[in-house]
Amino acid sequence: MLNGEKKIKRPLRWAMVGGGRLSQVGYKHRTGALRDNTAFQLVAGAFDIDPIRGKDFGMNIGVAEERCYPDYQTMFLEESRRDDGIEVVTIATPNGTHYEICKAALEADLHVICEKPLFFTSEEVLEIKSLAEEKGKIVGVTYGYSGNQMLLQMRAMIEKGAIGDIRIVELQYTHGFSSTEEADRFSDAQRWRVDPKIAGPSFVLGDLSTHTHYMSQLIMPHMKIKKLLCDRQSFISSRAPLEDNAYVLMHYENGAVGRMWTSSVNAGCMNGHRIRIVGSKASLEWWDSKSSELLYEIQGQPAQTLIRAMPYLDESCLADERLGALHVEGLSDAWANVYLKFAVAIDAKNRGDDKTLNQLVYPDIHAGLEGVPWVEHCVRSADQGGVWIDYQEVPEK
Ligand code: NAD
Repeated sequence: MLNGEKKIKRPLRWAMVGGGRLSQVGYKHRTGALRDNTAFQLVAGAFDIDPIRGKDFGMNIGVAEERCYPDYQTMFLEESRRDDGIEVVTIATPNGTHYEICKAALEADLHVICEKPLFFTSEEVLEIKSLAEEKGKIVGVTYGYSGNQMLLQMRAMIEKGAIGDIRIVELQYTHGFSSTEEADRFSDAQRWRVDPKIAGPSFVLGDLSTHTHYMSQLIMPHMKIKKLLCDRQSFISSRAPLEDNAYVLMHYENGAVGRMWTSSVNAGCMNGHRIRIVGSKASLEWWDSKSSELLYEIQGQPAQTLIRAMPYLDESCLADERLGALHVEGLSDAWANVYLKFAVAIDAKNRGDDKTLNQLVYPDIHAGLEGVPWVEHCVRSADQGGVWIDYQEVPEK
């Protein structure tokens, strides 16, 4: 169980690019990273595309005035001149900026935590991966809910054979918040999501389904996709070619089949993030709206609901417990778990502790090497009219 005691010798000096006053995701990063003040200290930032608003915001959240920078280039340069300069930076800006900021951060000898979908192409991920290796740095990807410990419970149960051989993988990440065209005028954050120059080759496939795809890989690391077929739609026609709804069918190497439904036009749905794994003996199911629970249904027996924090759970799941039984945990706790693992990974990398790094289960650059090609394959299949295409794992250089 976690209680905030230090896991690394001292907190890492941390900065953010983006995540400012009007950003959707910035506060999630801060609630995650700063939950354990023994892991990170927020000491600098280029929080906003608008330097004046960014500085005002940074000072309002307690960052020293002289360390609220007008842009990331100035921040990396100025911080490199300080004895107490930043060691790690989070990139929480729109998708189209991730690659250039990530590259600049690694070149400035910083560890990087970057938002999903990491970049636009697999080539970019491979290039950043080799740069990170050359620099001896970590690149983490913030798949926030992947820090929910019930997913580690699923992973442990599947590994131990609790559901038998996996046959069916049902994945869903949908909401209804973009059901109308007006939604695209409502906020900057929605507007850029449907602009291919900023969002990349997809809308919901990158924005939503990359989370669920990574989480499925976390739960079932042995399951490799053999081929997939994607059908994508732009129900709001002004979003074309970017999709606001997509279905993906998958065949896995072991003969299992899968399906992903991702959508931002699932009208009436506030959060439909669900993973159901069907095995030859039983099924496991997790919903984000009941993220402290895991449904375990053995064929022919009454269904069971496994509850977070209970001693019958796997030790890997209990290790990430924060509040204990009786209390409800949620998304912020999952983010805190992900960030704590980033801190442990960065510390291990700095010390050359490969044993710790190899044992740590968290979304590192390999998560990007799964998410970006996932989107590329889906888009390629859909743009050929929804055809089956072979899934090529990206060769690691
Ligand atoms: P947003 O438009 O709400 O906010 C973007 C922020 O970045 C703003 O503060 C903006 O001023 C700032 N910004 C833009 N360009 C900048 C630059 N060059 N330098 C400094 N600041 C800059 O976007 P959002 O919804 O917060 O999304 C940001 C990223 O986070 C996207 O990649 C998105 O996919 C991702 N995201 C992830 C999750 C998650 O659960 N992991 C949730 C939401 C968004």
